[in-house]
Amino acid sequence: MALVLDLLNRDPRPNIGNPKAESPAALPRHPEKQKRPENPILRKPDWIRVKAPGSPKWAETQKIVKQNSLVTVCEEAGCPNIGECWEKKHATFMIMGDTCTRACAFCNVKTGVPEPLDHEEPRKVAEAVAKLGLEHVVITSVDRDDLADGGAEHFAQVIRAIRAASPGTTIEILTPDFLRKPGALEVVVAARPDVFNHNLETVPGKYLTVRPGARYFHSLRLLQRVKELDSSIFTKSGIMVGLGEERNEVLQLMDDLRSADVDFITIGQYLAPSRKHHAVIRFVTPEEFKSFEAIAYVKGFLMVSSTPLTRSSHHAGEDFARLRAARAAKLG
Ligand code: SF4
Repeated sequence: MALVLDLLNRDPRPNIGNPKAESPAALPRHPEKQKRPENPILRKPDWIRVKAPGSPKWAETQKIVKQNSLVTVCEEAGCPNIGECWEKKHATFMIMGDTCTRACAFCNVKTGVPEPLDHEEPRKVAEAVAKLGLEHVVITSVDRDDLADGGAEHFAQVIRAIRAASPGTTIEILTPDFLRKPGALEVVVAARPDVFNHNLETVPGKYLTVRPGARYFHSLRLLQRVKELDSSIFTKSGIMVGLGEERNEVLQLMDDLRSADVDFITIGQYLAPSRKHHAVIRFVTPEEFKSFEAIAYVKGFLMVSSTPLTRSSHHAGEDFARLRAARAAKLG
């Protein structure tokens, strides 16, 4: 998952104005990060501006999420786009709980031992999708290394439940890497999502510090394998920039994704969830994002989203329509 949080609008003191921040009274969200040194918070540049949440339509979306006891990555990751997305009733559901078995240096999702799976969840998610009347839905999850299949069968059940309740809704999934879970990917692909997204998150040289529990080649191969299993499924992957990567490393990563036949790349600015998370090394300028976009199209991606506020699921519905049109144009 690419879960990026923006605390830069908020009071930098811990627990002030941030309901998801670590409270001294509660268990820390990130016990493994407690002993890390604190990083300075860089002042946000003018080009990172977001719509504040709180409109009536935003509140309606929030009500449906709460009524169905659903978890969203929009809230758990403190996504900066929540005001804009929820206003349009676009929420990204996070299945299999709110606790992750990995501890990536960029991510705000709680780390720990997850609860057992909720077998009612596929029905609940499907009902919420139907109530929201979504044309396109994005489903993601925490990493569930504790489960024998990494949660693959649960993912498949959620896809099937949404298909049954809302046959016209297109389904995009943003999955974990199913590392050391043989056969898991095949189960998910057999449920036939419209878009299979798995984020590389960063360039290979940064994996040990940014995404230590994952393996770059494994993630790349996962995406390639989706296309080998079912070439009709669109594949998508995203990275964050501003973590200290070099421009050439990003261009190499684009080539790697194209070699794996990935259709859609997303590139967005990394924003640090807290001082204990990986530092923002720099803010990449809008011009640099534009340049990445132009290069990615030349390299053959069907779709590219490269802006400071690009997130995996941002504008996913509109982007899916464009993706489909781009494939039709290419084939036609
Ligand atoms: S960009 Fe994705 S995670 Fe962020 S608010 Fe929109 S739907 Fe939610």
